[in-house]
Amino acid sequence: MFDKILIANRGEIALRILRAAKELGIATVAVYSTADADAMHVRLADESVCIGPPSARDSYLNVPALLAACEITGADAIHPGYGFLSENARFAEILAEHSIAFIGPKPEHIRIMGDKIEAKRTARRLGIPCVPGSEGGVSDEAEAQRVAADIGYPVLVKAAAGGGGRGMKVARSKDDLLHAIQTAKTEAKAAFGDDAVYLEKYLEKPRHIEVQILGDGQGGAVHLGERDCSLQRRHQKVLEESPSPALNDTQRAEIGEICASAMRELRYAGAGTIEFLFEDGKFYFIEMNTRIQVEHPVTEMITGLDLVTAQIRIAAGSPVSMIQEDVKFFGHAIECRVNAEHPSTFRPSPGRISYYHPPGGVGVRVDSAVYQGYKIPSNYDSLVGKLIVHGRTRNEALMRLRRALDEFIVDGVDTTLPLFRTLVRNADVQNGLYDIHWLEQFLATGGMDLNS
Ligand code: ADP
Repeated sequence: MFDKILIANRGEIALRILRAAKELGIATVAVYSTADADAMHVRLADESVCIGPPSARDSYLNVPALLAACEITGADAIHPGYGFLSENARFAEILAEHSIAFIGPKPEHIRIMGDKIEAKRTARRLGIPCVPGSEGGVSDEAEAQRVAADIGYPVLVKAAAGGGGRGMKVARSKDDLLHAIQTAKTEAKAAFGDDAVYLEKYLEKPRHIEVQILGDGQGGAVHLGERDCSLQRRHQKVLEESPSPALNDTQRAEIGEICASAMRELRYAGAGTIEFLFEDGKFYFIEMNTRIQVEHPVTEMITGLDLVTAQIRIAAGSPVSMIQEDVKFFGHAIECRVNAEHPSTFRPSPGRISYYHPPGGVGVRVDSAVYQGYKIPSNYDSLVGKLIVHGRTRNEALMRLRRALDEFIVDGVDTTLPLFRTLVRNADVQNGLYDIHWLEQFLATGGMDLNS
């Protein structure tokens, strides 16, 4: 097992990793930018090292500074969390060259899945069902038109290096296609420095359903059920739940086993998520995330497992049970991502939290790194915290969520708490009747205007 883990991240996920390390009896090192000197992860870690100025490029993405921090503190492993360097295969290789363990999958798997064209090719080879689309990238207009005519409009132009919902454009007809390709390429070049794009059939009313997997790197892998993340804004998840109200037990077991068996064949190590769109009873692979995800607590609540502890154990080569029958599911969990943003305009609202009171009680979990008097910096994402509830049934979870949201007080900054208070009272949400466009339509038709 590791002696000391350096956490190359900030915010709630840094705290989440720190908690897992402490429970394993492993010492922790926090790193921070000058904008995060007052952050909770810095206070709670055994040691902390300032690694640079506020800009992420100069601090949380600064590989030499991270290596120096390992050297100074004697850390023998790095947990990258999500975002930042978590899906950077080169970073994982550099750590290996310095005899520091990367708590995550093998670099070759990060690399394959980081390129969405390559990821789809691999998924197909492993027997995972994919969205119909181009075999590889599309390089010229004629080819794009041929593929689009073949799969049928509407089509979605997507960036091979995509992430965070950027570099995606819908073309409804041949006339839109060229423009969609050009805009997607420009956006992809600006965001990722790579303008390769590919085409996919645009699904009109799918749900987003993803499968959590754990692999031991030696051919053992299990699935931990699915998460339904269909409530999205700008292709970003807002609320997640498990189990999905749209699946029956047979569909759940089938897609879970397809994913687990693919990961056994890959000899995948660590935690990963295989993302699908689900429409008319069929699953379509869209991408795989080779890291811990923001919404992982939903799965922890219904399985009783600690995914970060599992990641650490796997990276250290300790045995982790990989027998599917050992994984038991109970009840229903829902997570809300509470952001420091205006609840209807979504304008970011960094600033000082003047009063903070998180909810508590049976079945309520809050993963957050804020506190009363804490100043949310404007340099990073606007996540205040995640509220996760668990109940024996979906209905119990919804009622618990309703009362937990009513208890939650965050003063001094705008938050999206009012949005969730509205959603939890909405009939479609209560009945589980929503697809990936539902929330955008709800907002566009003034769903929040009456309440804000
Ligand atoms: P990113 O890596 O940018 O998050 P994804 O491929 O995971 O991109 O897609 C993010 C979201 O975009 C999905 O959850 C879904 O809402 C939408 N999306 C992606 N592919 C399609 C598609 N073929 N048809 C319709 N919507 C899609």
